[in-house]
Amino acid sequence: MTVRKLHLLGSPVLRQRAEPVAVVDVGEATPTPLVLINPRIVQQSADTDVAEEGCLSVPEIFGDIERPMRVVVEALDREGRPVHLETDGYQARAIQHEIDHLDGVLFLDHLSAVKRGLLLAKWKRLRKKETGYVKEVTPQPAGEL
Ligand SMILES: [Zn+2]
Repeated sequence: MTVRKLHLLGSPVLRQRAEPVAVVDVGEATPTPLVLINPRIVQQSADTDVAEEGCLSVPEIFGDIERPMRVVVEALDREGRPVHLETDGYQARAIQHEIDHLDGVLFLDHLSAVKRGLLLAKWKRLRKKETGYVKEVTPQPAGEL
């Protein structure tokens, strides 16, 4: 069984910009998983949508996040071939969430200061007895952003 380290809110690594080579796996895609290497959003719709998001690195915390409904992403695939992907809905949201991670941005950063403060207070209450910002997990199929 594979065990990996999951960095939780508070871990400095969540705020680091990724090195130029990085992979985004949004799970729900064809082919599965969709692997995007060095993904860049090159175009996004002006119309937006609000949906609840959570994050494996911030367990039990959810917030309504506004994001562009459609994005155009350029990246490389596993073989290094250029990928041009126009997507919307859940996949567009997931890609934006994961690319944010590559830039050291968390979904919480898209909330107003008041909403973020409330969720951070909840996070601190939930983690009152826990220490450290890394937990060991067994990878599961994609589902949570
Ligand atoms: Zn996340």
